[in-house]
Amino acid sequence: MALSDLPHWLTLMRGAFRDVATAGHHSADFHFYRGGHLLLRVRIFALLFAVATPLWIPVAMWLLPGEGLFAMGVGRVVAGVAFLGVALLWPTQRSRLNGIAGLWALVIILLAFHLYAQILVGGTMAQPGLIGYTTLPLFLVACTALFPLTTLESLPLLAVIIGLEGLTVAQNRDLLGEASMGMLWVTLLMGGFALVAQAVHLYILMLLHRQASLDPLTGLLNRGALFRRIREDLTAGRGSAGPLTLVFMDLDRFKVINDHYGHPVGDEVLVYLANLINREAGPEDLVARFGGEEFLIVAPNRDLDEGMALGERIRAEVARHPIPTQGSDLAATASLGVARWDPLTQSPETLIDTVDEALYSAKEEGRNRVIRAGQAELRPAGSG
Ligand code: GH3
Ligand code: MG
Ligand code: MG
Repeated sequence: MALSDLPHWLTLMRGAFRDVATAGHHSADFHFYRGGHLLLRVRIFALLFAVATPLWIPVAMWLLPGEGLFAMGVGRVVAGVAFLGVALLWPTQRSRLNGIAGLWALVIILLAFHLYAQILVGGTMAQPGLIGYTTLPLFLVACTALFPLTTLESLPLLAVIIGLEGLTVAQNRDLLGEASMGMLWVTLLMGGFALVAQAVHLYILMLLHRQASLDPLTGLLNRGALFRRIREDLTAGRGSAGPLTLVFMDLDRFKVINDHYGHPVGDEVLVYLANLINREAGPEDLVARFGGEEFLIVAPNRDLDEGMALGERIRAEVARHPIPTQGSDLAATASLGVARWDPLTQSPETLIDTVDEALYSAKEEGRNRVIRAGQAELRPAGSG
């Protein structure tokens, strides 16, 4: 059976598993979005631990034998300061790797404190009042369940936490007895639970992100997501650090198509155009549905001439082939404006103004043409 013959729900599940197993298929925009979520959680947890770790000193005074008390106090203060450092000083870059590195920092600090406490209090299983120290890895595994991680990102983290606990148990086996083996087993089970919780969390985040950033009709980026991508590329110092070429397209007399053939046929035309533009644009270009029948291409690696050539190809393709719809094949044309926009000196609010004027000229000059901003360069209708 070919993969395309799978029942719909199986195909959905296959896609969902693929999306939560590794980050390989995630979009750059989702990396940015999830990076922000991961960082926020890292900071919240770091702040909570920074407060809670030293705050527990009075309880330790009550529970711990006198000789280990001072050392434990010092350990708690040092761990608290380290957590505070992560909360306040961790780099703000909203990237997936930065978020995950922050989580590793939290885990390493907590594990270091755990090992230190183990050395100080020894096998604490024997003393029920100190069970909190023994269950730290279990607590840590449970905390990771609140992070939207892929399985591949999570497994090394869980392996380190549970592996370290396993080593401790193996070393103290005589001292701790079967109870600690039981604790290791519970931590392992919690690890499985954390993996599922992380995957569900990630999946829901992904659904939310898709709904918030993709136009439901055409599947193209919406306006908000496009601006986010431009800002993201800027902060990451990628491609668009210099001027970008904009190609803005508006279908000619679209209202007539809607009025004559109805909205559903109009929608079919929009989907067809979205596919056409996606085909013509390169992998580096961002393609967005900017408004009703307006599409915007943001091209980081094209100069104005290359932007004009792309616009001309799209114009010619629209004009050349009638658009197939359920009713009949419809002839259509499009007008396009092309401009340069510099994100370093111009605000996102001015993005559309720079190219809208050129598009307006294209409409004024009779439609079905491509005009470059700042130049009344006209192309006769139907040329190309
Ligand atoms: P022009 O050549 O000057 O661009 O004329 P036009 O008719 O294309 O321009 P106008 O802006 O007057 O009309 C745009 C139309 O697009 C009006 C609106 O009903 C339609 N529209 C906007 N969003 C959608 C949509 O999602 N589906 C459909 N079918 N039509 C839409
Ligand atoms: Mg319009
Ligand atoms: Mg129009």
